[in-house]
Formats: sequence, C-alpha cells, structure tokens
Amino acid sequence: MLAEQLQDVEARIQAACARAGRRREEVTLIAVSKTKPKEMIEEAYGLGIRTFGENKVQELTEKQEALPKDIHWHMIGHLQTNKVKYILDKTELIHSVDSIKLAETIEKEAAKRNLISKILIEVNVAEEESKFGIKMEEVLPFIKKISIFPHIRICGLMTIAPFVENPEENRVIFANLHKLSVDITQKNIDNVKVNILSMGMTNDYEVAIEEGATMIRVGTGIFGKRDYKI
Ligand SMILES: *Cc1c(COP(=O)(O)O)cnc(C)c1O
Repeated sequence: MLAEQLQDVEARIQAACARAGRRREEVTLIAVSKTKPKEMIEEAYGLGIRTFGENKVQELTEKQEALPKDIHWHMIGHLQTNKVKYILDKTELIHSVDSIKLAETIEKEAAKRNLISKILIEVNVAEEESKFGIKMEEVLPFIKKISIFPHIRICGLMTIAPFVENPEENRVIFANLHKLSVDITQKNIDNVKVNILSMGMTNDYEVAIEEGATMIRVGTGIFGKRDYKI
C-alpha cells in the first residue's frame, strides 16, 4: 500500500513540475512520518526515501537514534526553546523558526557545538489566529536581525496554508510567499539565501509546486491517515 501511495505522489509531483515547466530535481519530497511507527519509515526507506519530517522533538530523536544514519530529518513542528539542544545535531533543517528568542537559542546551542544550523522562517501568510509563524511584513526586519548570528544559516521560508476543500484557494498564499522570497533575495543581505520554499502538504502540494515550492511536506498522502489517540 505504501509503495502504491508513494508512486502516486511521485507521479503527481512529476506532473505538477511538468505543468510549471520545472525540473523534478527542484522539488524535495519530505515524507512526514509523525505518529507513524518506525516500521513504516523503514518501509519507505526501502523504497528509496531518505528525507523525513517530524513535528515533535522526542519522537524525532527516538526515531533518529533507531533508524539508519543516512536519513535526513527535518523538524517541521513548533519548537520550544528549551528543546533546541536535543535536536540541533540531529536535524538537517529546522522549518519553524518564528521568534527572535528561538533564533537566539539556536545560535547559542549551535555555537556550543561548533556547528551551523540551517533554518527556515515560518510565515503565517494567511494570518490565521491558530497558527504559528510571523506575519509577511515582519519577515524582512526579522531576517535582518538574525542574519548577524554566525551559527545560523537562513535558507528560506516555510508556511502552513489553511485547510481548504479546494486547494486552488491556497494558490494565492503560495504565490505570495514566493514573491516575498524574491523580494528578499533582491535585498542581497549578507549570510542570507532564501532559496528554499517549504510549502504544500497532502491536500495542496501540486498547487504549491506550480507556485514555486522547493520542498513539499507530505504525510497522509504517503503513510495514510494519522491516529492521534495511540
Ligand atoms: C503534519 C504536517 C504535514 C503533513 O500533513 P499531511 O496533510 O498529512 O500531508 C506537513 N507540514 C507540517 C508542518 C505538519 O505538521
């Protein structure tokens, strides 16, 4: 079942890339394995997937320890400052930086370990009350403030679009985040490259690819529905 679902997602990614005149290599598929057992991750690994996303620190570190070391782990969920120290040397990319305090903590902990932590800024494009992330107009001043941190590398922007019945409704959200990334690139800020656009989930990743996503985060579409009761 997993193999078929993965094939279906892959075919849809390729079709969306073709529609947008983009190369398949421009889009990284992050398999969002949160709440799913290690066996399912191993199955996806066996099918060639090496990039997984988790949204809880403890779950990420447990899976990272138990599973093959060539897996790239992405932290996609809200991150509390007191938990930064557990994941810094275990994650490829933190998608969810949304406060100066969090950036300062990442800087401090990365400096201690003598590493450079790659991050994305989480942007609440739709300004939903229930969501984390900073507002569009706050992004540039925020980037300017944290770009001076030597142990952080700002690599791009991330957004979680609203849940909508028709993914077309999110097209404008993705287009706006893309435009913001172009605007920021034109400012040529030292130490800042906003090449990564992490946007699009099971419901809307094809539209996100058409609007310039370079990373899509797909959970349900690969692993099936999540059961939060277990
Ligand atoms: C759970 C989650 C996803 C994956 O959602 P699906 O709808 O299952 O594809 C993507 N991004 C974030 C931040 C998530 O928490």
